[in-house]
Amino acid sequence: MKGAFYQGNKSLRVGDSPPQPPASGEVRLDIAYGGICGTDVHIYLGHMDHRVRMPQVIGHEMSGTVAEVGEGVTEFKVGDKAVVRPWVPCGRCPACKMGHYNVCHQINVLGVDTPGCFQSSWTVPVQTLHRLPDDIDLKLAALVEPVAVAAHAVRIGQVAEKEHVVVIGAGPIGILVALESRLKGANVLISEINPFRIDLAREFGLEVANPKETDLPAHVTEKTGGAGADIVFEVTGSAPGAEIMTRLARTRGRIIIVGIFAEPAPVALGQFFLRELRARGVRLHEPEDFETAIPLVASRAVPFEKLISDVRPLERIQDTFEEIERGANFMKVLLKCSG
Ligand SMILES: [Zn+2]
Ligand SMILES: [Zn+2]
Repeated sequence: MKGAFYQGNKSLRVGDSPPQPPASGEVRLDIAYGGICGTDVHIYLGHMDHRVRMPQVIGHEMSGTVAEVGEGVTEFKVGDKAVVRPWVPCGRCPACKMGHYNVCHQINVLGVDTPGCFQSSWTVPVQTLHRLPDDIDLKLAALVEPVAVAAHAVRIGQVAEKEHVVVIGAGPIGILVALESRLKGANVLISEINPFRIDLAREFGLEVANPKETDLPAHVTEKTGGAGADIVFEVTGSAPGAEIMTRLARTRGRIIIVGIFAEPAPVALGQFFLRELRARGVRLHEPEDFETAIPLVASRAVPFEKLISDVRPLERIQDTFEEIERGANFMKVLLKCSG
């Protein structure tokens, strides 16, 4: 049984990772595939060394099969296919007391604060599990977690039929927010500057604008009959995204902040006055977002497989992260974790 351990200094070592027998209320999973996420890249680059206890197995996007159940677990049995909602709330803080567990003040994000899924065998609390249909393709199922992130953003944004939606950023989450908004019947435009990502977004039939070539606010104004977009999703976490987002929304429009801003970014707050805009952040997901994401992935209503750039053995994790750091054109790379 193997695992990929982050040991600091841009180094991931694949070594022995013995299966942990599940304690009461826990389940041990055999991991099929793990998906590499931007968060994993941040860990690799050392941005999260204050949270990660090295050496530690990282990874939080996965698909797998129940291999062993601990005492008292009745909801799952050996052989069930499942994904993990990779966070555990403290249950005691003010956010938890309000029922907003995904923004727990002491949240334990699996694969960041505690060991993750880039290993053959992963033991987790049963309440983090979501059941998959037996016939689901486990490669596609490894995309359920990011699909749930997007489902959360679309649900909180209250995307409705015929609304004009602008998504800033066509990385995996941006594309998923755009696709899931389109499924709600919205009229979607996605903004992106990277040619590889532009091409991929177009393969999904999305309308794409490159703000380096097109005057994006003017284009959105024209497309919406002078009004502006009902909803703007900022999914880049970048200063240019923060700068432009307020210039795209209609009067009383909604701005949903999905991207992670590691640094403060200037925002034209005057637009909030002029247009009575509203802004709302979204973080992670809630259980119901997995209940949306799983049937969506299983239904194949959207060719999510186009997001999978490559499937590689876990042993190639180090060179894969090095390629990503060098700017490789990847959307989602899956690591085959099975022993
Ligand atoms: Zn992720
Ligand atoms: Zn809490």
